[in-house]
Amino acid sequence: MPRTSKRFEFIPPYLFAEIDKKKAAAIARGVDIINLGIGDPDKPTFSHIVEAMHKAIDDPSTHNYPPYEGIARFRQAVATWYQTRFGVTLDPVEEVVSLIGSKEGIAHLLSAYLDPGDIVLVPSPGYPVYKMGTILTGGTPYYIPLKESNGFLPELDSIPEDIAKKAKIFYVNYPNNPTAAVADLKFYIKLVAWAKKFDLLIASDLAYSEMTYDGYIAPSILEVEGAKDIAIEFHSLSKSFNMTGWRIGMAVGNKEAIRALGTIKTNVDSGIFKAIQEAGIVALTTPAPQIEQNNLVYKERRDVLTDGLNRLGWTLSPIKATFYVWAPVPKGYDSASFCSKVLEDCGIVVVPGSGYGPEGEGYFRIALTESVQRIEEALLRLKEKGIRYIA
Ligand SMILES: *Cc1c(COP(=O)(O)O)cnc(C)c1O
Repeated sequence: MPRTSKRFEFIPPYLFAEIDKKKAAAIARGVDIINLGIGDPDKPTFSHIVEAMHKAIDDPSTHNYPPYEGIARFRQAVATWYQTRFGVTLDPVEEVVSLIGSKEGIAHLLSAYLDPGDIVLVPSPGYPVYKMGTILTGGTPYYIPLKESNGFLPELDSIPEDIAKKAKIFYVNYPNNPTAAVADLKFYIKLVAWAKKFDLLIASDLAYSEMTYDGYIAPSILEVEGAKDIAIEFHSLSKSFNMTGWRIGMAVGNKEAIRALGTIKTNVDSGIFKAIQEAGIVALTTPAPQIEQNNLVYKERRDVLTDGLNRLGWTLSPIKATFYVWAPVPKGYDSASFCSKVLEDCGIVVVPGSGYGPEGEGYFRIALTESVQRIEEALLRLKEKGIRYIA
């Protein structure tokens, strides 16, 4: 067998390998595992979307190759959704492309823009695809630290000018995985001006825009005047409609970037099953109260978990968006040793922050993907084992 590529060898050991091993061992011992690890909704896809799929799959016209860029009505549904949700006007032909889940688009964009060694600005902590996609495309990730003291927003003025000049793409993601931080329109206004100064493409990842609480409404970067000159935005039906397994998302915004991404995709995939796009059209017309109802489930879990951890010494504020709680590990631990301890002593899976970049060290991420009863059980186990937060 030939050797794998140098790029391939850059792939770090799987983030969750150690946790998975310990989890498997715990299950073998008969431990009742509470899984607050992965960011995958535990509820089924909304039933009106499943029904639309049933209907579409019986129609033979959905069975052949779809258009690469997405069927016209899906792209129109995306444009209509952006108009009603954000007040952003998009040309469904030139400014919208369908994605087989936003992850592939986030990764494939890089093939269109990077020559070997080109710099990509990658938030730390951040969704691992930004960094790994860059490395697998032959580019060089440059970490932009997200600090709690700055609300986990990048400090644009601290980014060295020579790096900003050389960089091609900057990934930003608000509401944020893993920190649950949110960005307001003022931040995006500043970011757009900054990106224009340095001739950068902003790649905004808006996967969590609909998963919000307490009346918070997440903006799109495209609401900023002139943002389309320099921004592409990724969106996904995965989180908002409990559709992670369906693999459907979209990229919108700057025409050239949409065309470039589409060209790469034309050469590596053949689009999304048309029946899934039909279901996607229905998903995008889901009445707001139904999304709100789904969010109330997470809100209740958030309240129970936040109050419970705060009784154990943490001082967390309730999150405004996403389904993640990002918390510091107690004194005496690093991210990995704390997550191992919680798994071994309590049978609870949480994720070490260090897996999301160097600035994630010292934190762990809890996903609100189990019921209130199970979250209460998890809190009880922590208490019984004397696990508390000590600064
Ligand atoms: C879940 C998630 C996505 C969406 O992934 P899909 O491929 O659309 O399922 C994108 N970005 C972030 C930050 C995520 O957490």
